[in-house]
Amino acid sequence: MARVSLDTLLRRSERNMGNGMNPIVKQSALEVIRRAYKEGIHVQISQGMRTYAEQNRLYAQGRTAPGSIVTNARGGQSNHNFGLAVDFFLTTWDGTKATWTVNDNWRRAAAIAKSLGFEWGGDWRSFKDYPHLEMTGGLSTAQLRAGSRPSLTDRTGTATPSPSSNGGNGSSPAPGGTELVKTAQRWANQYKEEASFRELDVDGLNGPLTMDALLRICQLFGKTAIDGIWGPRTKASVPEQSITDHQPGWTRLIQATLVCLGYNLNIDGIYGTNTRGAISAYQRSQGIGVDGIAGPETFEEFFKTA
Ligand SMILES: [Zn+2]
Repeated sequence: MARVSLDTLLRRSERNMGNGMNPIVKQSALEVIRRAYKEGIHVQISQGMRTYAEQNRLYAQGRTAPGSIVTNARGGQSNHNFGLAVDFFLTTWDGTKATWTVNDNWRRAAAIAKSLGFEWGGDWRSFKDYPHLEMTGGLSTAQLRAGSRPSLTDRTGTATPSPSSNGGNGSSPAPGGTELVKTAQRWANQYKEEASFRELDVDGLNGPLTMDALLRICQLFGKTAIDGIWGPRTKASVPEQSITDHQPGWTRLIQATLVCLGYNLNIDGIYGTNTRGAISAYQRSQGIGVDGIAGPETFEEFFKTA
């Protein structure tokens, strides 16, 4: 039985969390998945953000609607309504089935989450909520309803991009994400219809959905099938971009991708010495030929799945 890939777990989880998550909560939840995966534990997030209406529907379950009671919170009474909570479960080795048994692996996943600053519902005295993780920064739901928002600490150590050895604009990372990655996400979102992906949260986190959107834009530009899968046809559709010969659209795609990979670059469509330098540094880091020209081989490193 093949092991489910980390990327699959991250992708599904990011999708299930939905838009509107607090960036630090989201990044921390993804980090729980990464760390657990290293220990052979497969964590997946089933839910994150819930609107008041969704919460009210859930509250009705077991009361005025069929099913058993799953929550005591109405709309506005759950930390899920403010993007500050997630629910998780474990999957089987191949990732095809959810398991809900609260065993040692489950407790280990909760311990990892707690080390990143989450409160675990399994520690609650009155109503044990084993799948539930939240970060409230000490605020009550009443305070959250009134508009207060917590200032949370990112303990993942992943929000800071690796410094580029080759120039850039020196923008400093914002908590929970970077302004440059937000710029890349805003740039990508203008292609969401044509490249058929769901609008990205502009949260500055370079997660798998952002990379998926960039790959789809690559396929759009290359006029090949837009399926979000890197393969020989997509590779064949990628032209070479260099200082002497480049197009603004492709260059912006290259710059946005490099930004999401941690490089400090402006997304300005100009393939200058900064972009060439970043491409060379990236090529060196990937162990492919270093020529400062972004072509099919370099794109393959960007988008292939391990
Ligand atoms: Zn929950």
